[in-house]
Amino acid sequence: MSDIYFFAVSVERKKGFSLYRELEDVVAHCFVKSVDPVSACMRADVFLKKDGWEPCELQLPPVKVYGRKDFDDEYFSEAYEKSLKQGMAIIYKAQSREVSETTVSDAVSEKKVNPSKFHEVSAKLRNRKVCYHPEAGEKCDNVIRAHSIQKSRGLKSISKNGHVYRLSHKPQEDGAADFKLIGVEKASTFQGFCKTHDNELFELIDNNDFDFSHEQAFLYSYRSICRELYVKENQETLMSEMRDHFEGIGDDHLFKIFSELSIGAGNGLRSLNETKVKYDQVFIEQAFGDIEWVALHIRRPPSLMFSGLMYPDFDFLGRKLQEINDFETFLRLVTFCSAPCREGWVCVFSWHKDHADIGRKFIASLAVSSEGSSQAIGDSLFRLVISGCDNLVIAPGWWGKVGEEEKEKIVGVFSNVGSPMTLIDESYLKEGLEGISGWEVDEIYQSF
Ligand SMILES: [Zn+2]
Repeated sequence: MSDIYFFAVSVERKKGFSLYRELEDVVAHCFVKSVDPVSACMRADVFLKKDGWEPCELQLPPVKVYGRKDFDDEYFSEAYEKSLKQGMAIIYKAQSREVSETTVSDAVSEKKVNPSKFHEVSAKLRNRKVCYHPEAGEKCDNVIRAHSIQKSRGLKSISKNGHVYRLSHKPQEDGAADFKLIGVEKASTFQGFCKTHDNELFELIDNNDFDFSHEQAFLYSYRSICRELYVKENQETLMSEMRDHFEGIGDDHLFKIFSELSIGAGNGLRSLNETKVKYDQVFIEQAFGDIEWVALHIRRPPSLMFSGLMYPDFDFLGRKLQEINDFETFLRLVTFCSAPCREGWVCVFSWHKDHADIGRKFIASLAVSSEGSSQAIGDSLFRLVISGCDNLVIAPGWWGKVGEEEKEKIVGVFSNVGSPMTLIDESYLKEGLEGISGWEVDEIYQSF
């Protein structure tokens, strides 16, 4: 999936380029359409050099932008629009006076950066094997591709001829996310548990319906956290390996960018690691009552299955809950997973009791925003899953019935799911995607 990444880098005029020679303290504000922040920086780097500038210091690391309303400045809004259509837009600003020249490059004709090192490291990390069981040790030698979404009744129940839809790593031509059919055996797997520990830990939820127990809520939540840890550890390793790579080949500019990115990724991991330790403790002490949960029941057969987590930044009313870019504070985390029931399914929200201040507020706002309408709660839930979860699969039977216009809306929102480096629109959980899912929440159960 392609997104627009925005970042700023100070630049100096290269020798032989006379235009704007006299200007000092020029900063290039870059809008780049790309699948990830790293490729975005590399593409801009090539373009800036071609344009006669020498990139110096990263002023603002890449953040994902959602729309022109993220910018007060009209120039910036326009540049954002241009980058959507043409792949890249750059605004150069000087401290002395504004140059306000907008340079637009054509993404198609531009010489492609060869990100081979990036892909080499990514491929290696995709095969990384680890066992996250609290008692993992030497015996964990048989790490498997463990499912992060309940398989027997979850994935299988929504599959068609053994297949489900999931997000494809390769975006469509126009840069939007794409959904591809994938076999149930491969869907939503990660190499985060050895066979013995995976069976032992998750047997209870893999072979049974949701029974509204603390233990099951814990297990769903725990699996989400371990999968996220696997993904985020890989990201951090990727950024630091790229940093070392560019240091090695003496590319100072990209070295600085990746230093920033690896620091950012490390910061993002800290809260997650702390949470994992708390969850390990719950398991070791079998103190499942320390996990609070809310389960929303939907009677119709599931159209999506998912397992995700978030650090709630804004609630369903668009009110601020916590500052997720403040790495000094301990971020509160909420998991949300689909779980099969005797009749229909539930979406289980869970959090550790130490996160209850945010978890409870977050869920309370869901009830308030929907004013007791079972359909409005269903719509809010659907919006949350599409906009906040990259680990989801779709029932082919349902997707086939969704109208083209609705599909486009879903893909548009889904394309924005992602990285920790994101400028969030405060109302992203408040509105959007109404009347598409058909989800009606008829019962709400809670542990507190
Ligand atoms: Zn193990």
